[in-house]
Amino acid sequence: MRHTRRRAAALAALMSVLACGPSDGAARDEGPAGARAGAAGIGDADFPTDGNGGYDVAHYALKLGYTPASKQLDGEATIRATATAPLSRFNLDLRGLTVHGVWVDGTTATFTRAGDELTVVPARPLARGVPFIARVSYSGVPEPVRNSTNLGTYGFVPTPDGAFVACEPNGAKTWFPGNDHPADKAAFDFEITVPEGVTALANGELRGEPRTSEGRTTFRWRETHPMTTYLATATIGKFHLKKGTTTGGIPNLAAVDPRFRSTLEKFHRVSGEITDYWSTVFGRYPFGSTGGVVDDFSAGYALENQTKPIYGGFEPDDGIIAHELAHQWFGNSLSIKRWKDLWLNEGFATYAEWLWSEHKGRRTADALFASYHARPATDPIWSYPPGRARPADLFNESVYTRGGMTLHALRRAIGDRTFFTLLKTWAAEHRYGSVTTEQFVALAERLSGKQLDALFDAWLFQPRRPA
Ligand SMILES: [Zn+2]
Repeated sequence: MRHTRRRAAALAALMSVLACGPSDGAARDEGPAGARAGAAGIGDADFPTDGNGGYDVAHYALKLGYTPASKQLDGEATIRATATAPLSRFNLDLRGLTVHGVWVDGTTATFTRAGDELTVVPARPLARGVPFIARVSYSGVPEPVRNSTNLGTYGFVPTPDGAFVACEPNGAKTWFPGNDHPADKAAFDFEITVPEGVTALANGELRGEPRTSEGRTTFRWRETHPMTTYLATATIGKFHLKKGTTTGGIPNLAAVDPRFRSTLEKFHRVSGEITDYWSTVFGRYPFGSTGGVVDDFSAGYALENQTKPIYGGFEPDDGIIAHELAHQWFGNSLSIKRWKDLWLNEGFATYAEWLWSEHKGRRTADALFASYHARPATDPIWSYPPGRARPADLFNESVYTRGGMTLHALRRAIGDRTFFTLLKTWAAEHRYGSVTTEQFVALAERLSGKQLDALFDAWLFQPRRPA
């Protein structure tokens, strides 16, 4: 979550005046005293080079051109950020692609590349608390992350008719330079130009009708609410669209690859119905629109891209739609500060599937909990404590199933009334913010008046089946 800048900026301006005394001409030319290199990682020990230190991004403007036939991406990223330390240089995350130039506050900066790090050296050091604008011009054929122990293939994935773009946990760097870690959320503008007849789908809402000129069409999308980089998308291809609003009045856009054309009506209706239902259970919908995208790339997963969950190569059933739309509250509006707390996303979205099942008169959450708890003591979910997701196996079933069971065990301990108040309060108090497991435990204890350390310890942190 971002704090107000005004006070920090004023303080930094004062500090830089004090640092460069009037008799110290050399220091004045060099900018703020003590300027140093920003860290190559944001401080998540499990992903030491993900994200970067020394600044906080407020806004990304991504101007992209993409040609499916050649897979050529031409990009210009304009990043509005604030230095959180005096910086002589700072890093952006970018994988592959060719950088043509970098500018900071309109002045040419020098840069170097090493692995997935783009190091930018501004002509003048940056003062702490002062906003700056970095612009990066780049192009090339994006290379997604492949054979990962986490999501297999992810990032910007070229497809025959465009690209499938799903980036959890750190694939945003495959298509734009940024601070690629969920701890730094920002608003986004997208301007995506593709061949006429091709559709570009990004987060948030369309700004005006797409414009076509000389055989190329430009789509402009805007997501004004804070978003983590892994939830950003620029999914491109041939799509059938259905626009409308949910019964509750939320704009609803569904898009399906032609292969799934017959599923469009139902997909649109069910996504709307579930968004409205979660609004009654979790509180007001946090974003400006809902819906989803079914693409023809067989990813083997769905991802909760903000406002536009994406389903990779299959017709989603209502259970998985319920999961991805629950993430709009838990994972997207409320984001984790560190990947080890991933159960706050996945345990909640899994439990939402159980709540949906109960709501539809199918198996109750209680019955689902019992069926999982009956698994033998040797089942792998008991040896993997879900409260500490492991970097090489983030999406382990335990993080989902045992994470969901944790919430059900909590519900039984504090009662339905307190439990559902807790879900709404959690979503409201941390709306658009960043959260930790400790904060959730503290809120559960505050609302219930109960000491819950033993319950959370047994369910989240012990390598054995809780009693
Ligand atoms: Zn999920």
